[in-house]
Amino acid sequence: MNEAIAGWIRGHEKEMVESLCGLVRLPAVSPRDGGTGEMAKAEWLTELAKRLGLPTPKRYDVPDPAAQGGARPNLVITIPGRTPARTWFVTHLDVVPEGDRSLWEFDPFTPLVKDGKVFGRGSNDNGQEMIASLYAASVCVHLGIIPETCIGLAFVADEELGSAFGISQLLGQGLFRPDDLVVVPDGGNDKGDFVEVAEKSVLWIEFTVEGTQVHASRPDLGNNACRAANLFSVDLDEALHKAFPDLDDLFEPPSSTFEPTRRLPNVANVNTIPGKEIFSFDCRVLPSVPLDEVEAVIGEIKKRVSSKTGVKIGSVNIQRAVAAPATPISSPVVAKLRDSIRRVYGCEPRVGGVGGGTCAAHFRMAGIPAVVWAQEADTAHMPNEYAVIDHMVNEALVFAGMLQPETGPEA
Ligand SMILES: [Zn+2]
Repeated sequence: MNEAIAGWIRGHEKEMVESLCGLVRLPAVSPRDGGTGEMAKAEWLTELAKRLGLPTPKRYDVPDPAAQGGARPNLVITIPGRTPARTWFVTHLDVVPEGDRSLWEFDPFTPLVKDGKVFGRGSNDNGQEMIASLYAASVCVHLGIIPETCIGLAFVADEELGSAFGISQLLGQGLFRPDDLVVVPDGGNDKGDFVEVAEKSVLWIEFTVEGTQVHASRPDLGNNACRAANLFSVDLDEALHKAFPDLDDLFEPPSSTFEPTRRLPNVANVNTIPGKEIFSFDCRVLPSVPLDEVEAVIGEIKKRVSSKTGVKIGSVNIQRAVAAPATPISSPVVAKLRDSIRRVYGCEPRVGGVGGGTCAAHFRMAGIPAVVWAQEADTAHMPNEYAVIDHMVNEALVFAGMLQPETGPEA
């Protein structure tokens, strides 16, 4: 890493912390979650970009009468480079609500700097990376360095609720190209050594098993929904694992997973046979397995258990998301990011897949290889959310490193 760049970034740690505190003060919760949207934050960021010597962000407003200002703003900053290639850092403006307020030890939207951390809602998800990307771009401007590729910073709305007002709109307007290098710093581990290139399909399904409730001394008069639900759950578990045994070492774990999870309370007393059971399965399915094949197996077992026990089994999908194609490990963006991580952390970054969803999935669906990487404490969406200041500085170093020419042995 260029000494001047590293020195400038490390020397601006205090300013980075102050900037992150500024973001935390502006909640940016979606109107669908009881908030006012991202407008105030977008305006504040526009001023911050100017103070950092960056070009004025271009605004892409998407009308939303429920939001403050009648729109959901998306901001894009572009800086020319030595080549027409472009490196993008895509972060999201919106944050989730504070949740149960009684679990917070302080006000979620009043930033608190303590023990090398910045506490507050949105400090980790996604403020930390937004600031890191801004300072990585700013260092080039301040030191008069023309980056190897053009730099694109995109600050997008509505990520937490599916991105209909956010990255979907920017992709729809043709802002991105298949040869762009796209980094979505919105997930990672606390070592900073995991680069995410793929996600599994997600199927969350809730079952309702209906029998007939009776006194526990007269099972002959009813139909025990608890017994039928137990049978169904075990049969389904076995059938799904048997039908889909494929392994893909890209993922951790390498198999599809089919897990019985939530079970709602049934009856209040021991001597009543339950007439109704409600429980769920969380399925994370390898991209090579079509979700409708999984659903066909579920349908078969439903039918079999119903006809064997006489109960009625209904189901609803809580979530159903088909996996986007994985970003190839051979993509230039994967190589550049791993190189930069090696130089900053001195470790060998792993490449793999996870079970969740980010803006990267939208890029992958559009045929643009994108990677997810960050160095993060696992506090997103939690009470007392925090960002580790060292992580934010390291991220800025990694991003800035990606923008410099590759230094071969001759350099
Ligand atoms: Zn996020």
